[in-house]
Order: sequence, then C-alpha cells, then structure tokens
Amino acid sequence: MPNQQRRDHDLRSWLNRLSETGRLAILKSGVDLHFELAAIANRLDGNRASLFPKPAGHDMSVISGLISDRAWMAEALGVEKSELVHAFQDAVANPLPSKLIETAPCQEIVHDDPDLGEILPIPTHNELDSGPYIAAGLAITRSPQTGVQNVSIHRLQLSGPKELGALILPRHTLAFFEMGEAEGKDLDIAIVIGASPAALLASQAVVPINFDELEIAGALGCAPLEVVRCMGSDIHVPAHAEIVIEGKIVAGARAPEGPFGEFPQYYGERAERHVIHVNTVTHRKNPIYHTIVGGGLEHLLLGAIPREATILTTLQRSFPCVRDVHLSMGGTMRYHLNVQIENPKIGEAKNVIAAALGSHYDIKHVVVVDADVDIYDSEKVEWAVATRFQADRDLVAIHNAQGSKLDPSTDDDGVGSKLGFDATVPPAAPVFKYTTIRVPGEEDVELDAVINAEAQFSDIVTDGD
Ligand code: MN
Repeated sequence: MPNQQRRDHDLRSWLNRLSETGRLAILKSGVDLHFELAAIANRLDGNRASLFPKPAGHDMSVISGLISDRAWMAEALGVEKSELVHAFQDAVANPLPSKLIETAPCQEIVHDDPDLGEILPIPTHNELDSGPYIAAGLAITRSPQTGVQNVSIHRLQLSGPKELGALILPRHTLAFFEMGEAEGKDLDIAIVIGASPAALLASQAVVPINFDELEIAGALGCAPLEVVRCMGSDIHVPAHAEIVIEGKIVAGARAPEGPFGEFPQYYGERAERHVIHVNTVTHRKNPIYHTIVGGGLEHLLLGAIPREATILTTLQRSFPCVRDVHLSMGGTMRYHLNVQIENPKIGEAKNVIAAALGSHYDIKHVVVVDADVDIYDSEKVEWAVATRFQADRDLVAIHNAQGSKLDPSTDDDGVGSKLGFDATVPPAAPVFKYTTIRVPGEEDVELDAVINAEAQFSDIVTDGD
C-alpha cells in the first residue's frame, strides 16, 4: 500500500485526530444512557463523532460515530477514499500475524467479580430495544479444532450482572461453539470494546473460517497488531483496546434476546438465543466505551466496506470487465449492489449479475452499469436504469432464494426474490443512439470571467423604447 501515510493502531490516536480537526463533539456530562445518548449521537452522525463524559453518573466516557463517513475510514487507515476498498482487498490478501506481548494497557485494571451494568455505561439505543446493548464489541473466539481465532461483532443484550444474550448467526463463531456444545463444552469468548478503526473494519471481513481477522487489522496498520493473552483463556486480544470482557458461551443454554434496532431500520425480533456468562472485565485506566447506535451510519459503513472488497475480489476473479462495486446507502449498504463494468462481451453483464447475487445472501438487487456511470451516485445509476434498461431483455429474476432475515419483506426463513438490472448499453447498439448530449466547451467556461457582476437587469431590459 504505497499511499499509506497514517497508521492509527488504537482508538485514542484516531479520536485525537478527530478532535484536532473539529470532528469530535464533546457533550455535557450526565447524559442519560436511556435514549438520550443515542438521540444525540444520531443527530451528529456523519458530521461529528460524539464523546460523552460521565454519562448517567458513570466514570467511563462513551464514544460513538467515530467512523461514520467513508472518507474518515480511509483517513484512519491512511489511504485515499478512492483506494479504501482496494486497501482492504490488499490487507485480506496479505494478512500480518499478530505480535504477542506480555503486559498490555487493556489489562491495567482487573474486575474479578464484575457487575457489567455497574462497570460499563451501556446505552439503550432504539425505542423498542429490549434494554441496554453492547453493540460495538469485537467477539473473539478460538477454534477448538485448529486453534485459529475468529473475530466478529454480535449484538449483546445485557441480561444480568454477569450475563449477556447474543445473536450468533450461522457463521464462524457459531461453528466453533457447535464443535463442542454436544459434549457439553462451553466456548471461551473475549469481547473487545474500544478497538482501533482498523480492527473494527477487519472484524467485518468476509473471509474463510480459520482466518484470524486480527491479521487483517495488522495488515491495514502496516505492522503486526500487538495482542495480549486473556486473563482466563488462551484468546489473544488487541493490547491497546480500551475494555475486554472475558467469558464463555454456555453449552445448552438459550434465553430470550431482542428486539434490537438493526441496520435495515427495522427491529431484529425477540427469540431464544445464546447465553454468555462473564467471568472477568479488564480495562485501561480511564477507559473509553465505544457504542454503535443500531441503524446509524457507523453501523452501515462498517459492514459495507469489507463486503464491497470481498464482492469485488470475487467478481474480478471471473470477470475482468468488472471495475468497481458499491453497496448503496438507500439499499441499507447491504441489499443493493451497483456494479460498474467496462467493455463487456455480449451477455456478460448477465453473468456478472448472476455471480453478484450469489456472492452474499444479503444482496437482493443488482444494477450493472457502464464505465461512464458513477456507481457512488444513486441518481446517475437511476438514470442508467431509466435510459438503458428494458425489462423484457435486461431483467434477471431469481425467486425463492435465501435472503436477509432482517429484510421484513422476506418470509420467516429469510427467503425471497432477487432481481438483476442490466443497465448497460448493448454492445451491438448503434453508437449514435447512446451518444450522450454535451455542449462543447462547457467545462472550460470560467464563470467569473464571463459574468458581468456590475450590470443590473433593469439596465439591460428597459420598459418602453
Ligand atoms: Mn471469520
């Protein structure tokens, strides 16, 4: 990554950067954790990060919205905005093993008999959330078979002083847990709060099982990530994180969890879910607690960028015509994918649609456009659909496919329809038919040189003779 200049290995250096550049709002102390904190964070989301000192009488400060802009994320990783997805692709292709150290800031203070609600300022975000949720915790587990770690984010309901309810979807954390659950084995877990922007982003990488996502964080930072062994397990956690919760996912235990406000702007429902028993909490001196407000920009962006990188890598493997992909904001940065292609062979846009719909079950609608259409601009993409798409010829429909369970329009199993829109100019079309209008010289006009700022309308257009 030749463009890389800045490396923020921890949360604090990034917060410093935001503060120095007027992008960190410091709120009054004593803000209510019940809705008020999330309300303020949502109002500032995308413009400024929110730092809440001593909310509701807690000593710990809360931070939110620290990477709620694509450009900020690029800046935190030291790359140009246009290079963000490529930098992530590079990091996934060239992971850097972590470096184990003996003593770490994240273990400066140790609570052996923790009461989570007392130690941590855990907010309640959306109206119908079942209660306080830990929403920005990196869940780190270790495969019982291979010993390789996994990192992911799960919504964690505060269910008791030492108990969390977790939504663990069928991916790697669940696979590790199920390797031992039938024999009654719990799975050690560490929940890391206040990790670096790189680690947060790395946790969302779509990579195979037995791929420690922390090694992506190292690659994004251009140096091995320093990790420390947990107090009560063999899990290695980022040494410079703010807070670490150590515990176990309990074999055979399920308890009600939810509802919780999710990225599609609807609630994930209440159901019997996994239970985490907490043994120990460690943290830095004067730690900062990070929360992600459900459905906010930070929530959307953290999922989108790693997915874009994975989907782009997948598509480019089969289709050299694919230039770029984008998960649009209106599509909750999960469901709507725009794909830009250049010089496709006849019919190839359809193959790209089929592959894109197969690249992640969340993807519901795919629009493929030509290289002259800015896929980051939804109006331009809509224009391409309006002027280059005919449903009888350009629509791809797949019904009864696996979709997102959080999309309320799918059935109870998350099954629904997928559509692809080939909004490219047909390769055989007459050139003139698709020649876009332009006025020669328009972009070269210097308005200051041609506007007469002194002239009055009434001097030019006069009544009578
Ligand atoms: Mn994984």
